[in-house]
Amino acid sequence: MPVFDSRSFKNHEQVVFCADEATGLKAIIAVHSTALGPAAGGCRFWDYTSAHINVAPYDIAMERGEEDAIYDVLRLSRGMSYKNALAGLRLGGGKSVIIGSPKELGNADLMRAFGRHVDRLSGTYYAAEDVGTSPAMLKHASESTEFVCGLEHGEFGTGDPSPHTALGVFIGIKAAVKHKLGKDELSGVSVAVQGVGNVGRTLVKHLLAAGATVSVTDIVEANITATKALGDVTVLPLEGIHATDVDVFAPCALGGGLNPKTIPEIKASIVAGAANNQLEREGIEDEALRKRGILYAPDYVINAAGIISVESEVYREKMDPAARNDKINQIGETLTKIFSASDSEGRPTGIIANEMAEDIIHAANAVKIGAAAE
Ligand code: NAD
Repeated sequence: MPVFDSRSFKNHEQVVFCADEATGLKAIIAVHSTALGPAAGGCRFWDYTSAHINVAPYDIAMERGEEDAIYDVLRLSRGMSYKNALAGLRLGGGKSVIIGSPKELGNADLMRAFGRHVDRLSGTYYAAEDVGTSPAMLKHASESTEFVCGLEHGEFGTGDPSPHTALGVFIGIKAAVKHKLGKDELSGVSVAVQGVGNVGRTLVKHLLAAGATVSVTDIVEANITATKALGDVTVLPLEGIHATDVDVFAPCALGGGLNPKTIPEIKASIVAGAANNQLEREGIEDEALRKRGILYAPDYVINAAGIISVESEVYREKMDPAARNDKINQIGETLTKIFSASDSEGRPTGIIANEMAEDIIHAANAVKIGAAAE
């Protein structure tokens, strides 16, 4: 199967296949870029062989399974490079995937074996939490390596990134509302939140406090109950939340929600939410949204506050809350720049964001190459 020639491969610096016979570990670590610093990104634990996640949208015709895992890690690691670059972090982009069911395989020994493989990269890649991994699992990985971040323990541990991510998404929604609707406040603005897990629920809290009208849906009843306890929210059926007549549709569940089926049905004038990989295809679905007059906040820009919160941990620095919050606030300014460029150039926001990130990464690479030549 092609890797170097696949559409998901974009000059990744290193892709490592890892196995451990004793625990059944099968993992792939992809380092897309270290131009800006050590590559940092989550470790996704997913049963690629039997369950569906919206992976590898560029390679729709390919078979599912192990290949999905490869394309997923390639795409996600590049996304981390772009996210970290646009968030102004001293971090490059990387990601890891563990293949299999976390429920069946995700024990302490397997996570320690994964940690040993991360350790062999000597700090080129720092693993963090992602879909299928928990702080407890990362703690086990950290027993074999120091190159794990987002930990709840230790002198530099920054803990759960979700509340920061939710704050960043809230700030991003405010920037989008200001740009598209000309409103400085969210009072009276209606928002439909798809997925009220760790990020979505905290986002609802911010939205309610700002006076927004909030509707939600989730596949887990307990998460709906917990969200209802936050205040006056309307619960919507799972199907069709994207087509609700609201100002803002905020996808905060899994990726792939913006596709040829859903986009024509969207009534919101803004799509801005936490979920990763919202667009089924970059440059195509964001262009379709633009043509429909719907403002799309690129996912990796609006959801960057989680990785912003762990930067200090990678550098073994005491976290400075004021500096962290400055960077989180800048998410709004970065989005406004992207929205304005999209308007004036008549091109989709996703492509504008990618180009801005690539410019930052190329400039850092040029400095490195120049310094090495001296
Ligand atoms: P989570 O698992 O805590 O929450 C996801 C929620 O979505 C769950 O409540 C789940 O039941 C619900 N859900 C799943 N499928 C659904 C569907 N079809 N319809 C409605 N609800 C559905 O995850 P999270 O940490 O809140 O992250 C949410 C999204 O944000 C993910 O895409 C994640 O990759 C992204 N993200 C999270 C962070 C972070 O700091 N946690 C950072 C960046 C990006």
